[in-house]
Amino acid sequence: MNDSEGRKTVTVDIRKDLFGANEQAAMLNAELFKKHGIKAIDIMGSVGTGKTQLIEALCDRLGRGRRILMIAGDLATRIDADRVASHGVDTVQINTGTACHLDARMVRVALDDVDLSKYEVVFIENVGNLICPAGYSLGVSKKVVVLSVTEGPYMVRKHPLTIKRSDMVVINKIDLAEALEFDVDRLLEDIREVDANLPVFRVSAKTGEGIDSFISALGL
Ligand code: MG
Ligand code: ZN
Repeated sequence: MNDSEGRKTVTVDIRKDLFGANEQAAMLNAELFKKHGIKAIDIMGSVGTGKTQLIEALCDRLGRGRRILMIAGDLATRIDADRVASHGVDTVQINTGTACHLDARMVRVALDDVDLSKYEVVFIENVGNLICPAGYSLGVSKKVVVLSVTEGPYMVRKHPLTIKRSDMVVINKIDLAEALEFDVDRLLEDIREVDANLPVFRVSAKTGEGIDSFISALGL
């Protein structure tokens, strides 16, 4: 607002401003994906829950005939992108430097010189982190959070917002549950307490258990 001496002062809520700009960029991404008939899926979860392994299993099951692009978010390496690339899938690596999540602009920049008419599915592996990735829209059709029986029993109770902001939950490494004496039903109850209707999939990306029903729920 200008005062009588023509001096203008603006107070900016950085958080609100950042999130507003991100929502706008996410809308542009969503339009871009829609224009090319692409299903884009944001895969979130802590380090070590098997996000990359899940994407590898999905790519293998969908087969080489499917036109898949994988976008990998990582602070510094291309380890995960290279793993997925070894399955015959095109990959784009986003190195975020210090950022502990992907945002819509990063995805935009990553897609800048990519010919999207070549793809029908885009898997985005977010930076390994169960907290802030859920707070940033990327313009995807589904946000999936990957939990694992190796993470201890309290992931959901400690991170209810991440669950709330997801469209689907995968409980991965289900083949290890018995050996680790992990109570999967209890975890499921915790999820149900946050969102009674959230689709939950018990999966082993390693053995392939549960992959088919997850794929059909994704509409792939
Ligand atoms: Mg990974
Ligand atoms: Zn972050």
